[in-house]
Amino acid sequence: MMDTFMSSVGPGVEVVEQPPCGAQKTLYYCPKCLHGFTLKSNRNRHFRYECGHEPRFKCPYCELRSKQTSQIYCHIRKKHPDERVWVVNLKS
Ligand SMILES: [Zn+2]
Ligand SMILES: [Zn+2]
Repeated sequence: MMDTFMSSVGPGVEVVEQPPCGAQKTLYYCPKCLHGFTLKSNRNRHFRYECGHEPRFKCPYCELRSKQTSQIYCHIRKKHPDERVWVVNLKS
């Protein structure tokens, strides 16, 4: 990773990436984990509600964890198609 460059990026800073194909795309980076988002609103939601939080939902059939129940549901339908679709809430 480009540590020295990335660590100077603070909240609200927009970083313009230049892919080799020439088209410019603005990405909004989470200041904590440096995950890039194409939409600012997604970045803000991630930063406020997801980043740094422990995943609280778990697949009942394997060790997969997620912060969003929808991801677990989706995973169960794909990976455990014969099982009932539900999630374990770790913080209940
Ligand atoms: Zn983050
Ligand atoms: Zn699973």
